[in-house]
Parts: sequence; structure tokens; C-alpha cells
Amino acid sequence: MFKRVLIANRGEIALRIIRALREMNIESVAVYSTADKDSLPAMTATKSICIGPAKPAESYLNQDLLIDVAQQMGCDAIHPGYGFLSENAEFARKCEENGICFIGPSWQLIEKMGDKQSAKKLMLENNVPVVMGSDDIVRSSEEAVKVAAKIGYPVIIKATAGGGGKGMRIARDEDELLKELTSAQAEAAAAFGNGDCYIEKYIEQPKHIEIQLLADKYGNVVHLGERNCSVQRHHQKLLEESPSWGLSSELRAEMGETAVRAAKAAGYNSVGTVEFIMDASGNYYFMEMNTRIQVEHPVTEMLTDIDLVREQIYIASGRKMELRQEDIEFRGNVIECRINAKGPGTVKVLHFPEGLGVRTESSLFEGCTITPFYDSMIAKIIVHDRSRIEAIRRMRRCLEELVISGVPTNIGEMYMIMNHPEFVSGNYDTSFWEKNKESIGAVDI
Ligand code: ADP
Ligand code: ADP
Ligand code: MG
Repeated sequence: MFKRVLIANRGEIALRIIRALREMNIESVAVYSTADKDSLPAMTATKSICIGPAKPAESYLNQDLLIDVAQQMGCDAIHPGYGFLSENAEFARKCEENGICFIGPSWQLIEKMGDKQSAKKLMLENNVPVVMGSDDIVRSSEEAVKVAAKIGYPVIIKATAGGGGKGMRIARDEDELLKELTSAQAEAAAAFGNGDCYIEKYIEQPKHIEIQLLADKYGNVVHLGERNCSVQRHHQKLLEESPSWGLSSELRAEMGETAVRAAKAAGYNSVGTVEFIMDASGNYYFMEMNTRIQVEHPVTEMLTDIDLVREQIYIASGRKMELRQEDIEFRGNVIECRINAKGPGTVKVLHFPEGLGVRTESSLFEGCTITPFYDSMIAKIIVHDRSRIEAIRRMRRCLEELVISGVPTNIGEMYMIMNHPEFVSGNYDTSFWEKNKESIGAVDI
């Protein structure tokens, strides 16, 4: 097992990883930018070290520096968390070359699955349903027009290196396609250093249903059920729940088996998520695979009582997975709300909800400052209860109890969602936010 692990991340996920490491008697090294000097990860890790200025490129994304620090500090592994370098094959390869274990899949797998278009090809070859679209990257406007005419409008233009909902455009006719293609390519080039885009049929009013997987290095793969992440703003998830409305246990098992087949086809070996898009008739299609721990992993942890970060670390260290599919049970209902800051500020009063079936993941504390440099998510509130309606009531209570003063947040919007009839019905799709944002009282900035 590892002796000391460097966490190449910040915020709530860095704290989450420190917690897992402590429970496993593994030492942790937190790295922080000057903006995160007074942060909980820096204060609670076994050791912590400043790695540079606030700008991510000069700190949390500085690959060579991170590897140097890991070596200087005597770390035998690096946990990348989510975002930042978590899906960067080059970084994972550098770790390997320097004798440091990258806690995630091998760099070859990140490369294979991280490129969305090549992942889709692999899925097609293994009888996993994929969304209809271009067979490859579209290199010219003429090609794009041809593909779109074949699959029919509306279409969605997607960056093959994309993530975090960026670089995506919907086109309802040829004019829009021609206009959006260039801007999607430019956005992708700026955000991911790769402007390659492909085209897919745009599924109307779809549900985002994803399957959590655990796979070890010996070919054992299990699935841990689904998460419904259909409440999204600009293609980014706002809240997640499990089980999902309208998914029979047969369909859940079938989607789970499809995801397991996908992982086995890739030779996958870590935690990972297969994201599906589901149309109004319940047909589902592979969208992408995330080869990392996800923001919403606590939903599955609360439902199954399995510590995914701990499992991920065991797997990376070469342990054989003891879990079998038949051992995995899904109990009750879980909902997670992502609490986002809507601007910078200093937290004056902070109170997190507590009580039975409540979990908070956050690195906030009274007096801490929210800076504009990083992701706006500042806390996750997760509730568990016996039924969906009880989980909703519990979440309402938690949002009433939650106090974060001094920083503008989306707590009010989350509360409105919990009281919205369409959300309460359980039968909502990714159009929910756009359709209801006024009634939710959202100021869409
Ligand atoms: P998840 O996929 O875990 O449900 P998100 O899509 O919100 O959650 O992504 C988690 C974080 O990682 C966000 O901060 C997002 O901006 C960032 N992220 C995800 N993929 C990429 C990527 N390819 N490049 C840069 N940032 C990314
Ligand atoms: P990212 O890497 O940014 O997470 P995804 O490929 O997972 O990108 O897509 C993000 C979201 O965009 C999905 O959850 C879904 O809401 C929407 N989306 C993506 N592809 C399609 C599609 N073909 N039809 C309809 N919506 C889509
Ligand atoms: Mg995605």
C-alpha cells in the first residue's frame, strides 16, 4: 500500500481525499496556490506545500512541478481528484515514467477514453448503443453540412477533448450549423488546446443517466447503479439523484451490464463513469466515459455504503477487488445539491445542516475567502432517506438550515427546485432549467 500520497487538487475534493487517506493510515501531502494558503486541505493534510500563484496553469496544472514536489516529499502516488489534471494522459504518463503511481486508470486508457470520438468508435465495435453522428472529426463546413443532412437536424457540435459542458453547440438548421461550427472549434481550441469537433444527433428533452463503475487490474468490473443528472444549466450538472424516476430494476440492470461491457472492452481499471443520454422513449445511448472520480460520487456512496475513493486507492495500489455484483445493494433514495458561489466574498457565518441521513462535502469555514480563480462550487449537500419524497423533504429542511453569509450563492434556487412540481414528479429532463429558470427565481448570469 502507498505510504504517502500527494493530492493534485484543491477545495472539497482535496479534503475528501485526505479523509479517505487518513482512514487508510496513509499520509497526505496537500499542495496549494497562494490563493489557497489558508484552506482546509492545507491545514488538515499530514504535510502541505505552496506550489505557486493562483493561476491554475502556474500551480494546479503545472505537471513537472507537481511531479518534482511529489518526489521531494517522498510520495509514492498522486491523486488528481476531478477537473485539473485528472483526465490528462500526458500527466499520468509522466507520473508512471517517474515511478509515481497515478491514482486512476493507465495513461493509455485515459487517452483512449478521453477522446470522445475515439471512445464512441470503441463502443460501437462492442455493441454499445451510441448517439448517431459523424464517423470522425468534421474537418470542413461542407463535411459538417453533409453529416447533418444525413442524421437530420437538430444536431449538437461537440469538442472531442471537451469537458465541463464547454465547447458544445446546438444547431437547428444549416445556417446555425455553419455559424456555430467555427465558434465551437475556437472555444474548444482555447479551452482544451484541441479544436477538433464532431457532430451528433441532438436528442430532444433527454435525461442524463450515468452508471458508476468500479474495475480492478484483474478484469473484475462491477456497476454501482445509476445517477440521474438531468438538472443542468448550460450542460453542467446542478444536482444529482439516485435511483432515477422511471428506471425499472430490469432497465437498471441492463444499463449496468452495458456499462460493464463497455469498461471490459476498454480494459478499464479504476473508478469510472459511463454517461448515457436517454430519449423520451427510454432508448439510451453512450455519450462519454469519465475516467476519474466524479463530483457526484457521494450519491452512490450513500446509496451503496461503499467508499469509492478508498476503493479507487486500493485498486491503484494493485489490490484485487473483493466486491461482487451480487453484494451490491441499493438502499433508499439520495439527492445531492451543488452549492455554487455567484461571486467572490468572505464567509461570515457558516452553518451546515446536520442530522440523520445528511452529509456535507465542503472546504468552507468561517472567515474563508472565495476567490474568482477556480470552480464556483463551494459545497455539496447530500441527503439519504427511505423514499424519494422523504429525501426531498429532508433536502428542503437542509437548505432551510444551511447558512452561508457573506457570499452570494444558489441556495435559494436549489430550494425552489426542491419545491417545483416537475422536479417533485421525478419525470424531468435536461430542458428543466431553461424552461423553469424564471419560476425558480434564477438570475441567469
Ligand atoms: P462531473 O463530470 O464530475 O459530474 P463536472 O462536469 O462539473 O462534474 O466537472 C467537474 C469539474 O471538472 C468542473 O470543475 C469542470 O469544469 C471540470 N472539468 C471536467 N472536465 C474537464 C476538462 N476536460 N477540462 C477542464 N475542466 C474539466
Ligand atoms: P462533458 O464532457 O462536458 O460532460 P457530455 O458529452 O457529457 O460533455 O455532455 C454534457 C451534457 O450535454 C449532457 O449531459 C447532455 O445534457 C448534453 N448533451 C450532450 N450530448 C447530447 C446529445 N447528443 N443530445 C442532447 N443532449 C446532449
Ligand atoms: Mg459529461
